[in-house]
Amino acid sequence: MLDIKALRRQYPILERKVYGKPMIYLDNSATTQTPLQVVDAIRDMYLSHKANVHRGVFLLAQEATELLESARTRVQRYINAPSREEVIFTRGTTEGINLVASSLGQLLTPGDEVILTVMEHHANIVPWQLLQARKGIVIKVVPILPDGSLDLDAFRSLFTQRTRVVSFCHVSNVLGTVNPVKEMAAYAHEKGACVVVDGAQAVPHFKIDVQELGADFYAFSAHKMYGPQGIGILWGRREWLDRIPPYQGGGEMIKHVSFSGTTFEEPPLKFEAGTPDFVDIAALTSALDYIDSIGIEHIEAHENELMQYATAEMMKIPGMRIFGTAPGKAPVISFLVGDAHHYDTGMLLDKLGVAVRTGHHCAQPLMESLGIEGTVRASFALYNTRAEVNAFLAALHRILPLLGVG
Ligand code: PLP
Repeated sequence: MLDIKALRRQYPILERKVYGKPMIYLDNSATTQTPLQVVDAIRDMYLSHKANVHRGVFLLAQEATELLESARTRVQRYINAPSREEVIFTRGTTEGINLVASSLGQLLTPGDEVILTVMEHHANIVPWQLLQARKGIVIKVVPILPDGSLDLDAFRSLFTQRTRVVSFCHVSNVLGTVNPVKEMAAYAHEKGACVVVDGAQAVPHFKIDVQELGADFYAFSAHKMYGPQGIGILWGRREWLDRIPPYQGGGEMIKHVSFSGTTFEEPPLKFEAGTPDFVDIAALTSALDYIDSIGIEHIEAHENELMQYATAEMMKIPGMRIFGTAPGKAPVISFLVGDAHHYDTGMLLDKLGVAVRTGHHCAQPLMESLGIEGTVRASFALYNTRAEVNAFLAALHRILPLLGVG
């Protein structure tokens, strides 16, 4: 059992009021709040450790480099990567996927096929479309079943001799569906395809072991897991990191530069051009320590309990439609009430202090396949309480007449 009351003391922002009412923050899939421990780590980096990394011979620069490189080892341990050289720091999931699409994309030829799913975030669609425009690749899309789980028969049927890459989310940011990465990766490998996983919505909620999952690339963002705002991680299997060309060029990623030719560093530096966000990378260590000190399995159980309770109560509301009911889903509830527009529902909830997401959630193709424009989305984190869920439910009931429902 989590001592939520004690945990919440790490988050002064949760004491905020909006429109004079206690704020209930249920937009955790977009970004989680940051505990004091991580904020203090960022402050400490600025106040006592800031220097440019990998460049200086002086002590401060060596310390900064050491902090950055030990963060890499910490991430390696957190996701059980085989080696620290397979951990690349990025700006976020989006940049991680762009890196793969761009660099791996250079090995593809016109007519090569990339399989995506209809539940992808735009971050795992548009980079492949940019590649399609450059390289003439073919994009194929796996549909979903009525409960929001992936149609795995369709997935298998899409493979051909030309399938080179399969790229899909571990967890859908709209439906909460948890995709069977291990099985999908094993099948794709049998067919000779490279497997890219968008882990943005998985890493905050349950244990990730990249060796167990068996994909080739796994991307995620620190700001969705109690960490700092501007960084992410791309794990890549060493064989692939050796095979694909660099993403961006500049300082840090080179061995030697001359106008007659340039040689590149080994991974991971090969993929980390320019001055890295050392402060946030170092502070990420604190976020991982924080999650480990609580226990990701306790976080998972708590969030799941809140989601189950909220779902059961929401289903009692007339006209309630929940999108995504696959077994074992992550703590995200996307819904619509009657014929009410999602913005109206979201704005009325906001006036009662409840912060939920509204819109297409950067998943317009999914919305199109569901035949809707958008949803309201409530998503949970470790600091949410049952009392907050009750307040959210009470707010929903209160606005029903205004939405013309009930
Ligand atoms: N993929 C998924 C499934 C997401 O939910 C998000 C963010 O909401 C992203 C990718 C993009 O993450 P970021 O904006 O941190 O790069």
